[in-house]
Amino acid sequence: MTTGRVTYLDGPESVQLKEYELPTPADGDVLAEIVRANVCGSELHIWRGEHPYIDDGVLGHEALCRVVETGGDVRDSAGNALSPGDLIVPAYFATCGECVQCGRGNPEYCENAYKYWSRSPDEWPHFHGTFGTHYYVHDDQYAYRVPSDVDETAAAAANCALSQVLHGLGEVDLTLDETVVIQGAGGLGLNATAVATELGAETIVVDGVAQRLDRAREFGADHTIDLTEYETVEARCDRVHDLTDGLGADVAVEVTGVPAAIDEGFRLLGKGGRYLVMGNIIPGKEATIDPGLAVRKSVEVTTTMRYAPWRLHDALGFLSKHGDDYPFDELVDASYPLSDVDGALRDSANREVTRAALVTE
Ligand SMILES: [Zn+2]
Ligand SMILES: [Zn+2]
Repeated sequence: MTTGRVTYLDGPESVQLKEYELPTPADGDVLAEIVRANVCGSELHIWRGEHPYIDDGVLGHEALCRVVETGGDVRDSAGNALSPGDLIVPAYFATCGECVQCGRGNPEYCENAYKYWSRSPDEWPHFHGTFGTHYYVHDDQYAYRVPSDVDETAAAAANCALSQVLHGLGEVDLTLDETVVIQGAGGLGLNATAVATELGAETIVVDGVAQRLDRAREFGADHTIDLTEYETVEARCDRVHDLTDGLGADVAVEVTGVPAAIDEGFRLLGKGGRYLVMGNIIPGKEATIDPGLAVRKSVEVTTTMRYAPWRLHDALGFLSKHGDDYPFDELVDASYPLSDVDGALRDSANREVTRAALVTE
């Protein structure tokens, strides 16, 4: 094979597959083929034209890849030598090591995070996104070899939701015997439930879809609160207080993407609570909050976007150790060939499938 194809978004909800010569990797870089790539919720925002910075370009950020060729001797970010045939997962963003934020030790805020992703596919090395036959991994992108005991479906999602929640729950320092309320049982919420469970926390998951709450229990939720049963904020607050000896939760995690959930989170927390907000990622929406309530409880608010790239290594370690205890492999419920990337995006957007994967034809 000397050419490959990559998905190009040329305007809102309009994609085409473009074909290019396969690049020979530069020193330290890796050319990989895509084993499977997932259609993530944030991809749909880009596809619809809602992303604040990206309006055209390649698509795809979650993937499991197989090394085709390395530029010289290349090691993964944990020091393992990489050879053709090795399965790897790359962080979907670059950490340039040269900007102010990288210099401050905050690679998750790298000013050049999307320097490859945002390029036109016409620009070498063309394969800037994972919705393609191939993906080009640069030497300033963290990437890790996948342990052989990690399920391929789970590995393909590791560089997004699982790394994100490992980072976020680390930032709020969730510890043993704490109670955590997880607002939303989508991909981030389910991953957060499993991680919080393994950290020894007691988990309460809030969502309005019975099937998603069933799934949350499979991912370790100790308690679930159904929005259709507890219809008001007051009712949900009372329920959380009942479950926490009247104290409120120690930690709340917002992974709904719904602005109104923020004020509710403050109400579900107890005194000295920590609030991790990472589901509301689209600027321009507004929510009403009661700041006095938050201050009187001394709530600490943490927001996170992206993750320290070594969290991806933690994610693979988590899957190696605990992956079999949760149905990570069932989170993807539909597979599409790359040639039907349009169908995969449309069915995902219409919620006909929960999580679609593009698989090698
Ligand atoms: Zn994602
Ligand atoms: Zn940087």
